[in-house]
Amino acid sequence: MDIIKHEIVDDRVIFGEGTSSNTWENWQGLQQLAPMNIQSAFPKQRRVCILAPHPDDEVLGCGGLIQQLLEQGNPIVIIAVTNGTASHPNSKHYSPQDLNQLRPEETRTALAHLGAKQQIQRIALNLPDGQVYQQKNSLYLALENIIQADDILVATFSQDGHPDHEGTGKIAEKFARDHGLPCYQVLIWAWHWAKPHDERIPWQRAQRLDLTPNQQHKKRQAIACFKTQIEVDPSTQNTPILSPAAIERMSRAWEVYIC
Ligand SMILES: [Zn+2]
Repeated sequence: MDIIKHEIVDDRVIFGEGTSSNTWENWQGLQQLAPMNIQSAFPKQRRVCILAPHPDDEVLGCGGLIQQLLEQGNPIVIIAVTNGTASHPNSKHYSPQDLNQLRPEETRTALAHLGAKQQIQRIALNLPDGQVYQQKNSLYLALENIIQADDILVATFSQDGHPDHEGTGKIAEKFARDHGLPCYQVLIWAWHWAKPHDERIPWQRAQRLDLTPNQQHKKRQAIACFKTQIEVDPSTQNTPILSPAAIERMSRAWEVYIC
């Protein structure tokens, strides 16, 4: 979930602390969202392809969904759109080459915490971090090679506020529409810039996936594996990309998908 500070995509601004986890937790509207029925949304024989713009988005967004799919026995493929090599510009501690290795490793460790290292296939497209939308044709072509006729797509929200998240969401959405496949879009950065009742989120198309306390606990452990994103870079002293507030927002007992 690489963040470009002060990045403005229309009015969806990712800056500062964002809307607090408690504000969301206390919002009645969240409780009123349609609950997702995992068996009917993701029938167990169907393969689920999760598109992650950066290594960590698959867990931050879908750490609960992944556990429930594993429990059901759905085959899962993580499509890593970038390897997140642009997360530490000017760092002497992490070069892009280091990040190209470290960040996918963090994903593998995190997935193991969710319970199934071996059962989850990860396909890295290694598109340039920060330029997903500019590389939309490459992403679309890659999907042509990977996606099968019966797959279900999960991607980031096409209005999530981060350019790579929006690019991934838009291309997944178009691919799914062109091929008549279901596509669910998970909210990640939207929790930061949006507010309860926010009209920029299509709540009427949203479904809430509830996590058990055990699933929530495992998701928290998995998120803690993304050390490059959580710890202060000693060479720049830059604040971590995933602030405690961001981690808290993504560690709730629910995930919300736009359908
Ligand atoms: Zn991301």
